[in-house]
Amino acid sequence: MSDCIFCKIANHEIESTIFFENDEVVAFDDLNPKAPVHALIVPKAHYADVGDDVPDDVRAALMAAIPEVARIKGLDNGYRTVINTGPDGGQEVGHLHIHVLGGMKF
Ligand code: 5GP
Ligand code: ZN
Repeated sequence: MSDCIFCKIANHEIESTIFFENDEVVAFDDLNPKAPVHALIVPKAHYADVGDDVPDDVRAALMAAIPEVARIKGLDNGYRTVINTGPDGGQEVGHLHIHVLGGMKF
């Protein structure tokens, strides 16, 4: 089995606060939130980062999940999305994920 923490979350192998899920992606709250709302959108399949060989349907599902997450979290006044990539990008978890941050003004 994979040692990847986000694979384990996406597969419901460990506890998390998944609040949105479909065939391709899950969304859950960040363990160490940097804003009043800090969610992560993660593909269920493992891809290292946004430059990995991600199929078009998964890319589309990730993009489509962003406004869904914002709606569920009530981010009516806007929000920020972040994708960190590689060491210089500050990526700590090597499983592609989109940060959705809101509930404050950036
Ligand atoms: P990165 O720096 O890779 O873009 O972001 C990784 C994010 O994952 C960080 O914001 C960190 O707080 C979050 N994180 C790391 N481990 C866990 C975990 O086990 N559960 C959850 N919910 N978030 C995690
Ligand atoms: Zn993974």
